[in-house]
Amino acid sequence: MDEAAYLQAIPKAELHLHLDGSVRPRTVLELAKQNGVLLPSDDLAKLRDFLEANDNTASLVEYITFFELPIAVLQTVPALERATYELCEDLAKDNVRYAEIRYGPWLHVQHGLSLTDVIRGVLSGWSQGRKAFGLEGGIIVTALRDMPPAQNLALAQVAGRFVNDGVLGFDLAGDEAGHPPILHEDAFRVARSLGMNITIHAGEAAGPESVRQAIAMGAVRLGHGVRAQEDHEVIAMIKEDGIQLDMAPTSNAQTKAIRRLQDHPLKRFYERGIKVTISTDSRTVSDITLTRELENAIRVIGCTPAQVWAMNLQALDGGFGDKATRGRLRREFVETEARLRQATARG
Ligand SMILES: [Zn+2]
Repeated sequence: MDEAAYLQAIPKAELHLHLDGSVRPRTVLELAKQNGVLLPSDDLAKLRDFLEANDNTASLVEYITFFELPIAVLQTVPALERATYELCEDLAKDNVRYAEIRYGPWLHVQHGLSLTDVIRGVLSGWSQGRKAFGLEGGIIVTALRDMPPAQNLALAQVAGRFVNDGVLGFDLAGDEAGHPPILHEDAFRVARSLGMNITIHAGEAAGPESVRQAIAMGAVRLGHGVRAQEDHEVIAMIKEDGIQLDMAPTSNAQTKAIRRLQDHPLKRFYERGIKVTISTDSRTVSDITLTRELENAIRVIGCTPAQVWAMNLQALDGGFGDKATRGRLRREFVETEARLRQATARG
């Protein structure tokens, strides 16, 4: 077994994964036909240009535009169920066994669904998908930076009703520059009080101050956190407080949080003792799988396979899902990886 086969075969955990950024292009095409949504092209190959970012993508703001078509077709309960179910299938093919899927319910109410309908639809797809494909984990509900704070507060209140049905956490995403997290502190206070775990996107398109605010608002995990590297004090705080950074190197290069993939701080952060994990962020928008993301971490960023495996276990350790389940999975992960590593050593 070679390294690529080893990375494909090892059981994996993924914590930073956007539903709307991970819809299969063919499904976007089919849902658009079913729901009368006009697409810029009915040709699958051409449609990909509107769904996938690349190295020429200029910024987070441009990256976010690639979510527009998937969001346009995810406006019904069956569509939300299907996309979530199919993502479970895609995760299983990538040997992801523990996943936390996130999405912003406010983006799916354009055709009259309520927040409750939207949350129930995704939970239904997750519940069917995880059973069919043998996944553990759950759902993170994402508030949006450029929404009025009152709307995010309302979202926290609705999402809080589903903490026993698969909603694990509350997140903040969207255009970071000019939209400091602190504007939404009320929503996050309520989310915490209702039993949701807090993660916030920070240090992607804005600098260390955004990271400071996110931590002050109760985030124990940050989406990305790349630009924390601009401030030694913030780095020290992340390390001392045990804040976990759920990083997505390919996405970080596309949003220009870093200039090139090889500049990514993943390895440096790990070697400084910071908890880091690897995710895809968005499987379709970033045109990547977790297996290929791990390959990049080794071949382009320079991590050792052992470091990448430790980051993968960190994703299980830092997951928001049931502790006993994560403990059981961890034992399975360790056993399976040892067997695969031996097979790789034998060639
Ligand atoms: Zn993200």
